[in-house]
Amino acid sequence: MWIAFLSVCSLAERLYSGNGAAPLSAWDAIAAEAAAAPPTGYSHAKAALEMRPIWQAYYQKFADWKPPVPPAPPEGKLSGLVGTPTEPRFPLTEKVWPAKPGEASVCLWEDDKLAAASFSIDDNNASDVPSWEEISRKYGGLKITWFLISGNIGGAIVPGRISSAGKWEMWQRLLGEGYQFGSHSVTHVGNPVLEDGWPGPDWECAESKAQLDAGLTGQRTKIFARPGSATKAFNMSQEWRPSIEKYYAAARGGSGVPINKANMTDYFDIRTTANPLTMVSDEPQKDGWHLGDLFKPESKYYRGWATVFIHNINGGPDLENNPSPTTASFAKVFDFYNSHPADLWVGFLADVALYGQERDTATLTTDAADPARIVLSLTSKMDPAVFDYPLTVKVRLFDGWKSVEATQNGNVVPAEFLMHEGAPYALVKAAPDKGQVVLSPGSP
Ligand SMILES: [Zn+2]
Repeated sequence: MWIAFLSVCSLAERLYSGNGAAPLSAWDAIAAEAAAAPPTGYSHAKAALEMRPIWQAYYQKFADWKPPVPPAPPEGKLSGLVGTPTEPRFPLTEKVWPAKPGEASVCLWEDDKLAAASFSIDDNNASDVPSWEEISRKYGGLKITWFLISGNIGGAIVPGRISSAGKWEMWQRLLGEGYQFGSHSVTHVGNPVLEDGWPGPDWECAESKAQLDAGLTGQRTKIFARPGSATKAFNMSQEWRPSIEKYYAAARGGSGVPINKANMTDYFDIRTTANPLTMVSDEPQKDGWHLGDLFKPESKYYRGWATVFIHNINGGPDLENNPSPTTASFAKVFDFYNSHPADLWVGFLADVALYGQERDTATLTTDAADPARIVLSLTSKMDPAVFDYPLTVKVRLFDGWKSVEATQNGNVVPAEFLMHEGAPYALVKAAPDKGQVVLSPGSP
């Protein structure tokens, strides 16, 4: 009896925790929900039942699938800052201005901006793409990250739904236009039931990345967004974190205070909102729920990273006049993004997540400094094969420098000259662990 009881317990545990699988009995609940749904109109439960045999057939293709071994980072390097931070990783400060010539510091955000912001779109929604290209142009090249559900791109699973999933050719074109993609899983929790052949969360994470990287020339998928399911019994993807941490450099969640604290970002649960009404409201909001908090020294979210996301538009590129107040509020969000060019870094999610983890673990040393040249070494604890986004380094130059040129490992890198309170500085872009950085006065 005890043995039987224990094995039932361990089976239940296997189904309910750790691997994000739904129990087979979930189908009973879904069938009951479908039976109770009105005879006409859309029902998530009915749709899930219709899809069940289609997923079962698709999973057959992966019957022998084995989780790929993620490439191991070099000795002493990390594949990601996994785990939820419980205390600040560093003290948050105002902008830093090193005083002594040759002294340098890593800027909190790119180009020494005060704060950061990002935007993403979930669930492909391919038919909205022309509208988004227009919106992006309208807002000065808004950086959009699409979190793609990979399985049905090109209609590989359900050809009739290609208008939502999109064709590879179209996503390839967007990649060429400079937009970025993350993974939103293979199936979007379509049928996470092991007994139906679901290969598990490792497969959702690793296989979607493999499909995107194989389907799009030049794509390297580094970030994931956790899918949620409208079918309650299937909403298990919050348990996928170990798989996400194994195969990605960062991941976005779907909720939380939508401003991430700069020194306490959970890089595998980047906070966001799909309802940014409060973010642009004229009424007072709770701390962290308004974009203005990014610039308020008294806010706990001062100098943080705000992220918002959307699903479909339902109404074309004229966002301001969208009948849904929530959708219309994105126009105000983008206006805000666009109207603070000196203070706000609007970056792709993966770029900001790479920057943050490199910055949080960076070591910057001045190897040599004299009025003819300044030599710096920049390293981080992150694996440089993945974490290759340049950090912005601020360097106090020698009095008398009127301009600056910089190289890293002999290659020219971007360097901006600026004066602050009568002293010369440079903002230099260099990636950690890619060789020494050398600054010279250049030719004025
Ligand atoms: Zn989704």
